[in-house]
Amino acid sequence: MRWIKEPKCRAASRTRRAGLLLASVGALGSALAAAQAPAAPAARFAVVLDAAHGGNDSGGHSSNWTEKSFTLALSVRLRSLLAARGISVVTTRESDVTLGAERRVEIANHANAQVCLDLHASLSGSGIHLFASSLAAAVPARFEAWRTAQAGSVTRSLALAGVLNAALQHAGMTVTLGRTALPVVDSMTCPAVAVEISPAAAGAHPSGESATETLNDPGYQARVAEALAAALVEWRADEGHLGAGQP
Ligand SMILES: [Zn+2]
Repeated sequence: MRWIKEPKCRAASRTRRAGLLLASVGALGSALAAAQAPAAPAARFAVVLDAAHGGNDSGGHSSNWTEKSFTLALSVRLRSLLAARGISVVTTRESDVTLGAERRVEIANHANAQVCLDLHASLSGSGIHLFASSLAAAVPARFEAWRTAQAGSVTRSLALAGVLNAALQHAGMTVTLGRTALPVVDSMTCPAVAVEISPAAAGAHPSGESATETLNDPGYQARVAEALAAALVEWRADEGHLGAGQP
């Protein structure tokens, strides 16, 4: 297991995002408090898929690839796989729209979900990177604060990352686990993991194929989505999801 600091696509735009987040904190407070009032025990198993970036924010890109399109395609594909397995899915976006961190969090926290996946991709590196929040675990509070709400769920998020790791490795993928500060994940009240897809490790795809070609390969996208779906089916079956919103 190799520990790394933050998703590659995040580092480049961290400064700009910080400014946007600061501007939105005031308006967000009341919305988050309302969204995070204690909810009745979950009667259904629901998954939130957050296709990162979108609209004005392309994320990582090359001449014929954008991260925003990749994450949306993966979200659509994964939603279909999960729906076929009877899992309710809430997505933060269904098209190429600009969506702020606060709106993503609002959607996710309203869903009272047992899993929140923040989907990213990168042309550099290889394999799949899984990031849980770097917040220290804490007992969930009645009203969670922006950017620390995840503290109450981080123990279960680490367990979720473990289930995702096992399924992806079972599918033959190289996985790197990490913990970092991510505004969206840190503000979510569900077990949450950021998933960053890079091209398959050398040897797992035809030699000479570029990173862009690998990420554009529908077969690779399908393998990633199938492995993630398998992990979430296992997470649903696991008792781990039964304590949603509890220590
Ligand atoms: Zn990204």
